[in-house]
Amino acid sequence: MSDSVKAQSADVVVLGAGIVGVSAAIAARQRGLSVILVDRREPGSETSYGNAGILSSGSILPLNKPSLWSALPTYLSNRNAALRWDPAWTIRNLDWVVRFLANAAPSRLRPRAAALHGLIGASLKLHRDWIVKADAAHRIRETGWLKAWRSDALVDRQAMSALEPSILPVYKVGLLHTQTASVDSPGAVVKAYALMFARSSGEIRQSGIRAIVPDGEGWRVVLADGALSARHVVVALGPWSPDLLWPLGYRVPLAFERGYHREFKPNPARPLQRPIHDAEGSFLMTPMEQGIRVTSGVELTARDAPSSFAQLDQVVPLARGVVEFGDAVGEPWRGARPTLPDSLPMIGPAPRHPGLWLAFGNQHIGFTTGPATGAAIAAMIGGAQPGFDVSAFAPSRYL
Ligand SMILES: Cc1cc2nc3c(=O)[nH]c(=O)nc-3n(C[C@H](O)[C@H](O)[C@H](O)COP(=O)(O)OP(=O)(O)OC[C@H]3O[C@@H](n4cnc5c(N)ncnc54)[C@H](O)[C@@H]3O)c2cc1C
Repeated sequence: MSDSVKAQSADVVVLGAGIVGVSAAIAARQRGLSVILVDRREPGSETSYGNAGILSSGSILPLNKPSLWSALPTYLSNRNAALRWDPAWTIRNLDWVVRFLANAAPSRLRPRAAALHGLIGASLKLHRDWIVKADAAHRIRETGWLKAWRSDALVDRQAMSALEPSILPVYKVGLLHTQTASVDSPGAVVKAYALMFARSSGEIRQSGIRAIVPDGEGWRVVLADGALSARHVVVALGPWSPDLLWPLGYRVPLAFERGYHREFKPNPARPLQRPIHDAEGSFLMTPMEQGIRVTSGVELTARDAPSSFAQLDQVVPLARGVVEFGDAVGEPWRGARPTLPDSLPMIGPAPRHPGLWLAFGNQHIGFTTGPATGAAIAAMIGGAQPGFDVSAFAPSRYL
């Protein structure tokens, strides 16, 4: 394989420059492959921009765990800040909903948690290495993540005030996840990783991707302004991944757990040291470069349905009751967590097309798990074993 990137062809073309695609591109380059990374926007401008920035070591239990069953009655009214659902979407996607709920069975918990544990562990190692190499170490905080309850048992109120002197006494107890880190701008971290890829002679192409077409031993990628050819194509298009796979005969059961954020001017006298997860209020508050970012729970609906700010409107007053902050900065943001019925991503070969690789569906923890998702794909392209067990993530389980 050639070591230099030619104008219109490469060993690997990576589609999508979110955290997953950028990571696949870095890792493929590190294996000596020539790589072109394509996105219609700048790297890290979509889902990988607007998330809560948490590099979570402990998120091995997906939303569809056994406790979801007991919580279901509280979601029926469709007024819960944790989960809103669109009845028309639910009827149209009953098959996905039934499969998602079936995965909440106790017997399905342990294998999925074990799989995610391996993926998260491998990914956090890469983040901590890459963020230094990408000259973005100033963006990571190793201060953990505080999950706090307005009622009952764990870190008591006094210990919590010692950790976060700025917060008002609304919580009775909290749990500090010490192994979790966070960043002050997930979009900027992805951009820094993309720059690191470019510095390693990787090529970044900004263009809309129209189609992927089998072409002899490899692939032709049709762009809005030209075409690329490659032996290997990696689909890392996050919530948009099913669109380009449809014409190849793949019906991907991907749903969209949409979420919103809004940022607010911080009060310099009341800084936050770490993200706070209000367990009962169902929101997260993360200190970011631009201000305090409040992120909402899940809205199950079509990917491109009009925005509804009901959940943000519900939680922002609660967040104001936790720490003082000023006016909103900019407009509210909306994104979609891409989720398969078992809440595990697809990481591996497309079943019926050699040289086509799938890397998406990283649900609530894609910013955390992007690096190892990309590194595993690059290892498989290079004919090597990924550094963790990827069998649970095989695309063939659904395609
Ligand atoms: C509110 C919210 C909070 C979250 N908080 C966290 C958190 O704290 N920690 C965590 O780990 N995860 C979090 N997540 C999840 C995480 O953000 C996602 O799982 C992750 O960003 C997905 O990354 P990706 O690379 O797969 O997709 P994306 O970042 O969406 O990248 C896909 C790329 O494909 C490009 N693209 C799509 N179609 C085309 C086309 N036709 N042509 C050209 N380009 C195209 C897009 O422009 C985009 O850049 C959160 C998500 C949300 C919504």
